[in-house]
Amino acid sequence: MQADFDVAIVGSGFAGSLLALVARRLGLSVLLLEKGSHPRFAIGESTSPLANLLLEELATRYALPRLLPFAKWGSWRRAHPEMSCGLKRGFSFFHHTEGRPFASAPDRQDQLLVAASPNDEVADTHWYRPDFDAFLVEEAREAAAEYLDGTEIESAAFDSGRFRVDAVRRGKGISLRSRFLVDASGRSGALHDALGVRRVAPFLPSTQGLFTHFEGVRRLDEMGIPGGPEIPPYPIDDAAVHHVFPGGWIWILRFNNGLTSAGVAASDAFADAVGLARGEAAWKRLLGRFPTIRDQFEKARPTLPFVHAPRLPFRVDRAAGPGWALLPSAAAFADPLLSTGFPLALLGIHRLAEALEKDFATPRFDTRLAAYGALTLEEADRSARLVAALYGSFGDFPLFVELSKLYFAAAHFSESARRLGRPELAGSFLCGSHPQFGPALDACCRAALAPRDAKGRERLLADVARAVALVDLAGLLDTSRRNWFPAPPVSVSCAASSAPA
Ligand SMILES: Cc1cc2nc3c(=O)[nH]c(=O)nc-3n(C[C@H](O)[C@H](O)[C@H](O)COP(=O)(O)OP(=O)(O)OC[C@H]3O[C@@H](n4cnc5c(N)ncnc54)[C@H](O)[C@@H]3O)c2cc1C
Repeated sequence: MQADFDVAIVGSGFAGSLLALVARRLGLSVLLLEKGSHPRFAIGESTSPLANLLLEELATRYALPRLLPFAKWGSWRRAHPEMSCGLKRGFSFFHHTEGRPFASAPDRQDQLLVAASPNDEVADTHWYRPDFDAFLVEEAREAAAEYLDGTEIESAAFDSGRFRVDAVRRGKGISLRSRFLVDASGRSGALHDALGVRRVAPFLPSTQGLFTHFEGVRRLDEMGIPGGPEIPPYPIDDAAVHHVFPGGWIWILRFNNGLTSAGVAASDAFADAVGLARGEAAWKRLLGRFPTIRDQFEKARPTLPFVHAPRLPFRVDRAAGPGWALLPSAAAFADPLLSTGFPLALLGIHRLAEALEKDFATPRFDTRLAAYGALTLEEADRSARLVAALYGSFGDFPLFVELSKLYFAAAHFSESARRLGRPELAGSFLCGSHPQFGPALDACCRAALAPRDAKGRERLLADVARAVALVDLAGLLDTSRRNWFPAPPVSVSCAASSAPA
């Protein structure tokens, strides 16, 4: 095996393998190091229209046609029926009160359905990560990236224009050199210490997570939810289902292999009250508080041990430096609430790919990395502020609905701008670089986190509506929808123009 590489990537989750593939397409030599092996369980499964568009753009731009089918449910099922995934037509939210069954308020004030796509063919997916990540790492190997699994990093140090990485593989020491070093190890932060990166307090209250995969989780529509004669904009379970309650929320993502990913993210106070660290017993205690969710899991059985994450959010002080970069998922994480992990990781891959393509091995490369690092943390903070504002409104669901429109409006706007060939109109995640929306979003989130009286709440709602109106291409301010929103125009026209492959 050669010992000197252009690019060394530590971590072969979907993001590390994808970056390895792109770098190979750019003609660079690539080393991909993984401490475990594939296939393996990984959390983080639900995509979004923007994430899938970013994947599609990477596949097209870097001549990776075998990745294209994964950007839509229909093409994925036809091209890879052997690989599991889930159907995601939208984002479903239901608000719960302890001790009471979910009742479907007549005015739909206790629910929010936001369609992402008009049909199954062009719908988003939940990635079954054991299959998807294993596929990507095989693609990277086939593209002649050097892949070493079962490898533990011992040290990494910059020396004469190159990083020297010392590692141990199956008890044997190995030493490798690389011009560019990437930490793609997610929250493990495998290279944080070696690169002198420090963890700092994220812009979020401390939250915990508990999750696993189940079989036998009932569909809500089979339980008579949402109820009433009207037909929802999509089948509510073919979605990322969010059960929201004061203190936290539960996610439910169904795969087509009979498995369902489910878990809870909750404030420390709530998590400690149900003893989240105690795994399955805590899960049962949690469900006991919410009769409808308990019924949904009545016959469910975990198929893997529960994982307790004692602290979900994290953030580092630097995301890049001369010759090195952290992928966004190794630099910060807020919460799974809005499925922001994938689009942020994919945006990071886009930016690093462009830096490699245009400026690798020139003095401009490090300047690009510095800009990448700053933008990565800026976007992480903006996402964290919005999540914090949403957590603060779990007890006031009508406010939660309006605040969440900031996310949906920005996401639809970004997707539309990119599809219309004007990505510069939405250069930063959540339209942060939009001259009016960016500051308005930040101001709304700050106001949502500040104490307020009834008048202050009305002012906040008006400010949020004004901010949403700046980028609302999806009709999210149309009150006649009563919290059920059909697929936005960009998605409908995309469906009309894409014939089944
Ligand atoms: C509870 C939870 C739910 C989430 N849900 C969603 C969601 O629904 N949608 C969404 O968009 N995002 C979600 N996320 C975020 C999502 O998980 C991440 O954005 C995504 O997994 C990042 O992928 P990655 O490839 O960068 O890192 P990872 O998936 O974390 O992969 C990192 C890889 O690095 C390897 N590794 C770790 N340490 C080392 C080491 N020392 N040496 C070598 N290799 C190492 C690991 O074995 C792994 O293979 C969620 C996160 C959490 C915590």
